[in-house]
Amino acid sequence: MPDLEKLLKKIDFLSYEKSVPLSKYTTWKVGGPAEFFAMVSSEKALLELIEITVENSTPIFVIGNGSNLLVSDSGLRGVVIRLSGELARVLCGEEEVFAGGGALLSQVIVEATRSGLSGLEFAFGIPGTIGGGVMTNAGAFSGRVSDVLANIRALDMNGRTKMYESFTGRYREPLIPPDEIVIGASFKMIKDSKEKVEKRLDEVRAKRKKTQPWGMATAGSVFKNPESAFAGELIEKCGLKGKRVGGAKISETHANFIINTGDASASDIYALIELARSAVAERFGVVLELEVQLVGFSSEVVG
Ligand SMILES: Cc1cc2nc3c(=O)[nH]c(=O)nc-3n(C[C@H](O)[C@H](O)[C@H](O)COP(=O)(O)OP(=O)(O)OC[C@H]3O[C@@H](n4cnc5c(N)ncnc54)[C@H](O)[C@@H]3O)c2cc1C
Repeated sequence: MPDLEKLLKKIDFLSYEKSVPLSKYTTWKVGGPAEFFAMVSSEKALLELIEITVENSTPIFVIGNGSNLLVSDSGLRGVVIRLSGELARVLCGEEEVFAGGGALLSQVIVEATRSGLSGLEFAFGIPGTIGGGVMTNAGAFSGRVSDVLANIRALDMNGRTKMYESFTGRYREPLIPPDEIVIGASFKMIKDSKEKVEKRLDEVRAKRKKTQPWGMATAGSVFKNPESAFAGELIEKCGLKGKRVGGAKISETHANFIINTGDASASDIYALIELARSAVAERFGVVLELEVQLVGFSSEVVG
């Protein structure tokens, strides 16, 4: 088998490092090393990388802003890919915004507001990228990414470009097949005054600050809300607010958030997840489903 590193070196618009701690790239600030961590800044480079990794049966994992991931302490084999450059740009039109898969939602909201475009205010404070938002159908305060999307451009593992224009928009479910890579997406927006958009953003910020731990190392809500209940309320009723394992703690502000207080490992966080899940199952007979994604917890890379 050809040396993967030699092949990576040949790709223009791709830079890589070896053995990169993924704790640097996750909002929980945990996660062991990626064998290779590649920053890819052009569609052509991404295509070449897919071709090489498929040919060599090398596992890949596309990371966004790492804000919905629990990466194991043992890390990931293969190549972790992050989109940058032209794959992370934001362009505003008359009533539309286009953003690359690697662009941050916050960056899209800033640019849209500057251009007097409304539609994504609900997503203010979600610290993810467009790719991550599409793969989790991110949402808050009764808005979801799928409500505002016009189309998604993606790449499959055969190197084919796909265009999606309609979405089922299920709660926290990927909007496209999970093994495809989001290259970019367009959002249908509404013209509005910059001041009015800013006012709505302030309201969302205030709501978030009041109800969620703000500025802490978390990955947002750990569990999905089961039908007709809130995961946080169920965990709170089990008396688990403030519960600690190692450096991980269930938030006192919102029991569906786990905080890395400084030196947590992924296994500390995982232990708290299991503790909350079994307490809720025992007390209420409800099996909570994870909203965060576990990565690298088995011998295979989950991708
Ligand atoms: C403080 C805080 C608040 C949060 N609030 C909310 C909230 O209100 N609502 C909500 O829905 N979520 C919330 N989250 C969770 C998280 O921000 C979202 O799920 C977000 O959409 C994840 O985006 P990401 O770029 O960080 O994706 P990552 O966590 O990096 O990845 C998530 C998944 O997307 C895949 N992925 C990422 N980019 C691509 C791509 N280009 N192509 C293909 N696959 C890709 C990854 O492989 C992975 O499967 C919050 C998180 C934090 C830390």
